[in-house]
Amino acid sequence: MTQAQTTMNLLSHRIHQMQESATIKMSKMSRELKAQGKDIIDLSLGEPDFDTPPHIKEAAKTAIDQGYTHYTPVSGYPELRKAISQKFKRDNNLDYTIDQIVVSTGAKQSIANVVLSLINPGDEVLLPAPYWVSYAAVANLAEGKCVEIPTTIESNFKVTPAMLEKHISPNTKLIIFSSPCNPTGSVYSREELEALAGVIKKHPSLMVLCDEIYEYINFTGQRHTSLAECSEVKEQVITVNGFSKGFAMTGWRLGYIGAPLWVAKACDKMQGQFTSGTCSIAQKAGEAALLSSLEPTYKMAEEFRKRRDLVYGLLKDIPGLKVNLPDGAFYFFFDVSHYFGKSFNGKTVQTPEDISLFLLSEGNVGLVSGEAFGDKYCLRMSYATSEEKLTEACQRIQATLSKLQ
Ligand code: PMP
Ligand code: GLU
Repeated sequence: MTQAQTTMNLLSHRIHQMQESATIKMSKMSRELKAQGKDIIDLSLGEPDFDTPPHIKEAAKTAIDQGYTHYTPVSGYPELRKAISQKFKRDNNLDYTIDQIVVSTGAKQSIANVVLSLINPGDEVLLPAPYWVSYAAVANLAEGKCVEIPTTIESNFKVTPAMLEKHISPNTKLIIFSSPCNPTGSVYSREELEALAGVIKKHPSLMVLCDEIYEYINFTGQRHTSLAECSEVKEQVITVNGFSKGFAMTGWRLGYIGAPLWVAKACDKMQGQFTSGTCSIAQKAGEAALLSSLEPTYKMAEEFRKRRDLVYGLLKDIPGLKVNLPDGAFYFFFDVSHYFGKSFNGKTVQTPEDISLFLLSEGNVGLVSGEAFGDKYCLRMSYATSEEKLTEACQRIQATLSKLQ
């Protein structure tokens, strides 16, 4: 046996079964090609290109000087949880007490805490598809069974109450979805969420993880609606949010949940064994973000809206693409199935993954294939970059796809 085979055998079945995050994999590939000198426009990773606003950075510097350098309470500093509780009231009209809030090292950890706290082997986890890549990965890690609810671009990738009802079984434990949605940018309206709540309340042992990390990047003109605002299901809902997107704080690693007390206690216990309380300095920065004016956040969101309009104008004119106008987040999720079966230089593309690799190697544009999001027809483009790069990327996509015959 080779050394490599021996070490592979030493790894757990968990890690063998886990897929590498497709978003991270694609951005790694783009980065490697850039390092080789290729002029890649990488639209794979969902990360604001803006820097964290200065007043938030200042709060972090002050925190260091004031000695916020020690272990923190596992669920986060009480003053940060108080600011989050006030934020829930201010922005979402939700009442969460401090002990119903758990702060984590990114919303990614918040989601992992919830799933690992709720899911037993064989429990079904419902995923309206397309869904964000890590939901399925962490549900599989918990040995849950992912059940996808497929949607189409024609209905803006949204599930209806009837579709939800049809997929609920006696084994269904948890539904996970995001609104605004990564990867589709779709936003559920208040009426749509109320209709879904009507189904959820009929199944009182069903829990829902509602990921609202793109809350502020919403172009509908309506205030963001949280599922937990539907009071008849509030006890079934875990609201996940974080600082990465709305405050351009991806590197600070700060996310949180508002949840029924028993879920919050379980997450505190889980986190106490994995990571403990998240970074003291990041927490003080997060507190400043929530207690200050949201003006910088709204400015960034307005920039994203301008870019969305620009990219929509460019993408919809590319022959063969099916494109919808997303209402939030900073992604396009467009259908490339017209190109399946077409070839260039003797190589045929059959899947979105083939097309994303073709666009990377032939067009120098990094996009993520829909497959990792539970979709067979689309590619995801993050438009969190400059208008100049976005314009150039769309030209490259058009020119490269036109080579496929
Ligand atoms: N949920 C969704 C839908 C996301 O797009 C992201 C982005 N990474 C996360 C959760 C996790 O965010 P973070 O861990 O950076 O807070
Ligand atoms: N949420 C971002 C994305 O979907 C960041 C990458 C990740 O954390 O997976 O691209």
